Amino acid sequence: MKKRRAIFFDRDGVIVTPILRNGKPTAPWKRDEFQIKADVHQILSLIGSFGFLRILVTNQPDITHGHVSPREWRWMQSCIEQLPFDDVFICFHTNTEGCLCKKPKPGMLLEAAKKWHIDLSHSYMIGDTGADTKAAAAAGCKSILVEAPYNKRVKGNYKVKCLFDAALLIQSS
Ligand SMILES: [Mg+2]
Ligand SMILES: [Zn+2]
Repeated sequence: MKKRRAIFFDRDGVIVTPILRNGKPTAPWKRDEFQIKADVHQILSLIGSFGFLRILVTNQPDITHGHVSPREWRWMQSCIEQLPFDDVFICFHTNTEGCLCKKPKPGMLLEAAKKWHIDLSHSYMIGDTGADTKAAAAAGCKSILVEAPYNKRVKGNYKVKCLFDAALLIQSS
C-alpha cells in the first residue's frame, strides 16, 4: 500500500485562539473563551485538496486539572468536529501520568502513522510551542511553527506568520 502524507495540527494556538494566562498560552476553559481562528475551515479544505491527510493531535489536560468542565469541553469539541479533519487524537493526561501520547512525546503521531500508513518523513506538524516541534522531530516529520509573541525562542524547521502561510509552504513542498 502506498504511504500517505499528513499534516498534523496542534489545537490551541493553531486552530483555536489561545488564551494568555500569566503570559502563557493556554486552552480556552469556557465556551465564551473559545474561538476558532479565521479561515481555518477553508484552509483545512485547501490542504486536503493538496492530497494530505489532516490530523489533529492535541494535549487536553485541563479537564483532568479541573480547569474546564466536561460539559464545556464537549461543547468546544463539537465545534472542532465541524472542521474537516480526517482524524483527531487527544491526550487527556497530565505531566505526572507518564503517558506516551502527551507531546513532546511522539505517541499520537506514531499511532496515527500506523493507523493511516503515513510517510512521516514527508509529513509536517504545525504547532505553536516547543512541545509540538519536539514531537515532530521525535516522530521524524518536519515542524512548522506559527509565530506568536510567546514562541520567539522556539526552534522549528519552518516558521510562518499564519496557518494560510503554512498551507502555501506545504503546497510548494
Ligand atoms: Mg498549542
Ligand atoms: Zn497522554
